[in-house]
Amino acid sequence: MDNFSDKGGKGAVRIHDSLIELMGDTPLVRLRKVTTGVPAQVLAKVEYFNPGGSVKDRIAVRMIEAAEKSGELRPGGTIVEPTSGNTGVGLAIVAQQKGYRCLFVVPDKVAQDKISVLRAYGAEVVVCPTAVPPDHPDSYYSVSDRLAREIPGAWKPDQYSNPENPRSHYETTGPEIWEQTEGRVTHFVAGIGTGGTISGTGRYLKEVSGGRVKIIGADPEGSVYSGGSGRPYLVEGVGEDIWPATYDKTICDEIIAVSDKDSFGMTRRLAREEALLVGGSGGMAVVAALKVAETAGPDDMIVVLLPDGGRGYLSKIFNDEWMADYGFLTTAGEESLVRDVL
Ligand code: PMP
Repeated sequence: MDNFSDKGGKGAVRIHDSLIELMGDTPLVRLRKVTTGVPAQVLAKVEYFNPGGSVKDRIAVRMIEAAEKSGELRPGGTIVEPTSGNTGVGLAIVAQQKGYRCLFVVPDKVAQDKISVLRAYGAEVVVCPTAVPPDHPDSYYSVSDRLAREIPGAWKPDQYSNPENPRSHYETTGPEIWEQTEGRVTHFVAGIGTGGTISGTGRYLKEVSGGRVKIIGADPEGSVYSGGSGRPYLVEGVGEDIWPATYDKTICDEIIAVSDKDSFGMTRRLAREEALLVGGSGGMAVVAALKVAETAGPDDMIVVLLPDGGRGYLSKIFNDEWMADYGFLTTAGEESLVRDVL
């Protein structure tokens, strides 16, 4: 087994009782190609190493365990959340392993594949119409509220207001980065969705470094965090049209707005040049990190968080036609993923 090294922080343990134990402790990997000519070190915190494939495993396990402690979630209880994405996967895994029923309410625009993933883990999924306003009784917000009220023993984690969301990052992501860099990190860059990642990790890194570490948020152009009004953008999982309670406005030193085109272009480069197949929000964060690197020196160490893997985006970001339809390929031949082999 000489060729196998331990996953950082797991010591000599070879057998785990549950996948839950493998949540967090993700690796830090140096970006070597997309950083050509950049004097600073740029290190990627690769969150697809979590069992559910994303950073959201961290908050799923923490929110559930805190609710168990507070008595909000009791044996035989049901977890109800309006989510179709990465948080759903994390919650489904933890719920299954701990023996809770899990019920997700999703709008009908959600890709069938995402619903299939949740059902594969044993979660139940209720699909609601997209074409109704949020306060309509059939909207997915209303339906999830009603189910949480009516089902006995139901508990709604609510990742947009649950303090365990940022706290999980304060207690895990932040300390991991500090230890992995032996306190040499100078900048932390992450996308902002609920704001949990940047608020919790950022607060920890600021506190532990006495304010030395700079915290930089990456945001899709049009989202409120970078001064937009909620204009539509295509990068998934980041940006908001409202200000969630989980976002701490005092943490970021700077917010960098990134276009869809640049985010997706970098996402494709990360796969092709760094062998990192990640989602569009990871590409977006790297664009921001490289912007930060423009003014950073050789002693600077920039850590950028890559929230999830790229397999969920094969028909979009990694599909030439989809990219071309939106005008994201400058010249199709130049950036196409299809290589002419003859
Ligand atoms: N990227 C992706 C793909 C996500 O699912 C999320 C979570 N919404 C984020 C980034 C942003 O993380 P946070 O909610 O902690 O701000």
